[in-house]
Amino acid sequence: MNTLQLEAQYCAHNYHPLPVVLVKGEGAYVWDDNGQRYLDMMSAYSAVSHGHCHPRLVKAMSEQAARLTIVSRAFHTDTLAPFLQMICEMTGQPRALPMNTGAEAVETALKAARKWAYSVKGVAADKAEIIVCDGNFHGRTISIVSFSSEDQYKHQFGPLTPGFKNISYGDAEALEAAITDNTAAFLVEPIQGEAGIVMPPPGYLAKCAELCKRHNVLLICDEIQTGLGRTGKLLACEHDGVQPDGLILGKALGGGMMPVSLFLSREDVMAVFEPGDHGSTFGGNPLASAVALEAMKVLQDEALVERSAKLGEYMLQQLQAIKSDLIQEVRGRGLFIGIELDPQRASAREVCERLMSKGVLSKETHETVVRMAPPLVITEAQIDETVAALKSVLAELSGEISV
Ligand SMILES: *Cc1c(COP(=O)(O)O)cnc(C)c1O
Repeated sequence: MNTLQLEAQYCAHNYHPLPVVLVKGEGAYVWDDNGQRYLDMMSAYSAVSHGHCHPRLVKAMSEQAARLTIVSRAFHTDTLAPFLQMICEMTGQPRALPMNTGAEAVETALKAARKWAYSVKGVAADKAEIIVCDGNFHGRTISIVSFSSEDQYKHQFGPLTPGFKNISYGDAEALEAAITDNTAAFLVEPIQGEAGIVMPPPGYLAKCAELCKRHNVLLICDEIQTGLGRTGKLLACEHDGVQPDGLILGKALGGGMMPVSLFLSREDVMAVFEPGDHGSTFGGNPLASAVALEAMKVLQDEALVERSAKLGEYMLQQLQAIKSDLIQEVRGRGLFIGIELDPQRASAREVCERLMSKGVLSKETHETVVRMAPPLVITEAQIDETVAALKSVLAELSGEISV
């Protein structure tokens, strides 16, 4: 049996991967088991913003792995505090609670918001509401899928968790209309990644921040995917000049090496957590903290945020200049770009499969969007290579259509 067959036999079929077996990565490149090289336009849904196997991160990880890895938070360690100090100072959030995966940090934010509503805002027991947006993606736990607007994410996973209210994304008036005295928080992605790189109208987040402030509602931004330079700012909220009351980070926080996530927030919100209220065996472990601290230093030393802004603008221009009637829209910010195809003329899956045969790896988001979110260490020449491959795929496809 080859690797694909073996995986098909033993692994749950909860993904539909492209038929390629990756064995090695370096920077923006990955290699398959035949030695074929690809440019990685996925970067693991933005978890690999630093590029694959960044030498400084490999070093930090192996040194820490040889010294101390997991002790649980039953004890203090010398790596957690420096990591949290750096990320709190970078984001302007006073305090952080470490978890591992994104979904866990989202759950942490939901728990914080509910407890804050009862203990600080004065909402009656079990009445707290959290407002979320249609098209959201915040992870896969039962509570999180309970407020997804994607039927597949929650079909036959009930009974679902109550206490959430969906509004349409990008509509600040809908937020104002949905807020009640029981509203604890508004949870939102500054740009919706999994929905297909969906950008709200300019000024949306600033308006939401103003409404939340006026009604004593916590604005919690899920920047698991948009954060840490992906959109050309450290945080995507900065495009709107917004400092959220709660911030969720994950993915790139672990430098593409480890699952590391955080819920960061105001003092009075984080103060709701007392010993025993919440926790995670692996959250904030020495190995994760050492790698994440080094990842944040690399972000600064290599000016990856600025690089994302500059190269993102370049890539967006190059992609928008492509003349093809298969493309409906190219949109994005920084190195977070979605190419919306005309569903009548092309499937995103097919474009991704053909890109693969030309040495570029991406993945469709829904049926119509091809994602371009490379590691932030990508070069202009590598962007040119990607754009050329895409042009040639589009030419092939439109040639076939007109035949
Ligand atoms: C990926 C993602 C999550 C979930 O993170 P996991 O590590 O997969 O649990 C949550 N929110 C957003 C915006 C994401 O992109």
